[in-house]
Amino acid sequence: MNAHTPLARRHRVAVLGATGAVGQAFVRLLADHPWFELTEVAASERSAGKTYREAAHWIGSGSMPANVADMVVRTCDPAAISADIVFSALDSPIAADAEPAFARAGKMVLTNAKNYRMEPDVPLVIAEVNPSHLRVIDAQRRNRGWSGAIVANGNCASIVAALPLAPVHERFGIAKIVLMTMQAVSGAGYPGVASLDILGNVIPFIRDEEPKIETEIQKFLGRVDGDSIASAEFPVSAHANRVAVENGHTVCMSLALETKADATEVERAIAEWRGAPDARGLPHAPDLPIIVADQPDQPQPRRQVDLGGGMSVVVGRVRPDSVFDVKLVAMGHNVIRGAAGASVLNAELMTRCGMLPDP
Ligand code: NAP
Repeated sequence: MNAHTPLARRHRVAVLGATGAVGQAFVRLLADHPWFELTEVAASERSAGKTYREAAHWIGSGSMPANVADMVVRTCDPAAISADIVFSALDSPIAADAEPAFARAGKMVLTNAKNYRMEPDVPLVIAEVNPSHLRVIDAQRRNRGWSGAIVANGNCASIVAALPLAPVHERFGIAKIVLMTMQAVSGAGYPGVASLDILGNVIPFIRDEEPKIETEIQKFLGRVDGDSIASAEFPVSAHANRVAVENGHTVCMSLALETKADATEVERAIAEWRGAPDARGLPHAPDLPIIVADQPDQPQPRRQVDLGGGMSVVVGRVRPDSVFDVKLVAMGHNVIRGAAGASVLNAELMTRCGMLPDP
């Protein structure tokens, strides 16, 4: 099955939190999808009962898809949603109870919220990096008595960092990482950070962000151990900053390696990497999950955030580090690769692997 193979019947899917920044990205990606049919959108009681056009303050490029604009927004209650596959862009306080309720009701929940990411029986997946972690879904169902399941994708900065780290860890082994992020305002949702706080400014604090980045990178690069995921053991130290960029998180990283390698070898390993074979050729898989920039002043969010439809991470400045071994810069679209696009790609991977209920 490749990206252009239409399914005889598309899977019916719903989006929870459809009116927010990530929810709108889901709507854009799913409005005309070869394998999924977006049949329902849901949000808070404030939006429920309105048409999507009335409820969503549409942000970002392009216009609202006409086939979604007239849908009536539903509540985030499993009884209100008939689709078996649910993409969640809910705020975490709401996701805490809502997502297990959907999983209990037999739905496959692909979530962007932080709540269940670090549970050992919840796969935290980047399709090209660790698709084998999906195997713990069976244990999750047994442990929790659910007929559905939760599959998480990571924090937006963790995903951008983990993609180029995957080939480096595979090839040389990572011993430790120090990283520093410059994160776009869209990462805080809509309306997010007040313009008077961020214009012409850098805010060196994003609540709860640094522990998420540190632990999620370890989990992405960990392994399946029986019925759970064992995180990689190398230490990670993260500094998180909010900057006046619309879309695109930039991550500067210094790496110590288990097997010594110079910057040229590390750059070659990153440039040659194509990710897990099962993830290639899916509708939202970019041709190159990682693009190595050919200019010394790149990556730059304004110039490259949309490469690969927003699904490619751009890496540059791979060079020697005088304290560690090698340092580099990675940049990717936080709302697409770091959120909605990553979930859609995970669902496409699960379709190819026969892990979703029949349409
Ligand atoms: P957002 O713009 O604030 O949107 C939040 C959504 O949640 C809206 O659709 C909102 O609906 C809905 N909601 C709020 N209260 C609700 C309630 N009581 N019941 C049901 N729905 C409710 O946030 P976002 O940036 O899209 O983020 C969504 C999730 O993705 C968060 O967990 C966030 O941490 C995560 N995430 C975001 C990014 C990013 O780059 N933005 C990246 C990775 C992960 P109403 O419009 O009706 O209020």
